[in-house]
Amino acid sequence: MRFTRLRLNGFKSFVDPTDLVIHDGLTGVVGPNGCGKSNLLEALRWVMGENRPSAMRGAGMEDVIFAGAATRGARHFAEVSLQIDNTERLAPSGFNEADTLEIVRRITRDAGSAYKVNTKDVRARDVQMLFADASTGAHSPALVRQGQIAELINAKPKARRRILEEAAGISGLYQRRHEAELKLNGAEQNLLRVDDVIEQLG
Ligand code: ATP
Repeated sequence: MRFTRLRLNGFKSFVDPTDLVIHDGLTGVVGPNGCGKSNLLEALRWVMGENRPSAMRGAGMEDVIFAGAATRGARHFAEVSLQIDNTERLAPSGFNEADTLEIVRRITRDAGSAYKVNTKDVRARDVQMLFADASTGAHSPALVRQGQIAELINAKPKARRRILEEAAGISGLYQRRHEAELKLNGAEQNLLRVDDVIEQLG
């Protein structure tokens, strides 16, 4: 899957709709301090389902919405859309029919986030799984924040293992295992209840 365009609207300093077209080869983003380079990387993480405000350098998730400036009022929502070239059909099943995937995340004040894939409403989990299975999730080691290399060097072995698992594309399996365990637990509880009922009847 190849990212071909990142579109921001009301996200952090990108108050007006802005397109970052990603061509083949290397794309560099240059600009003076504070012009929004890191905000672009954060937009990429965010649209892939990042749900920790701290990873967005904020206290709450609504901090990603343009907060206003001397000459512009604050916005009511922020939206990021990521276009992906899927002509090689590398997207996980369930998303793999179309040549182009468009993932959209929108956050509205007091109403939280909503996600769409090719105009269809999906859950945050669906988007997170889509990218986790393609080993390019919001926590992907391919996205390197400022200061992250030093953090990695000082990290505990368990944290380092998580990074390797993300790179290997197996982190989605942990979420699925956790969900399967919860279901299994529920089924066991139901069985115990059935045993109780049978005992009472007997
Ligand atoms: P540096 O080179 O110093 O790392 P940078 O180009 O990476 O800078 P960013 O850190 O991406 O810049 O952008 C910071 C800018 O984004 C600041 O000017 C900050 O005021 C602005 N900003 C962040 N969040 C919001 C928001 N919610 N609303 C408006 N502006 C915001």
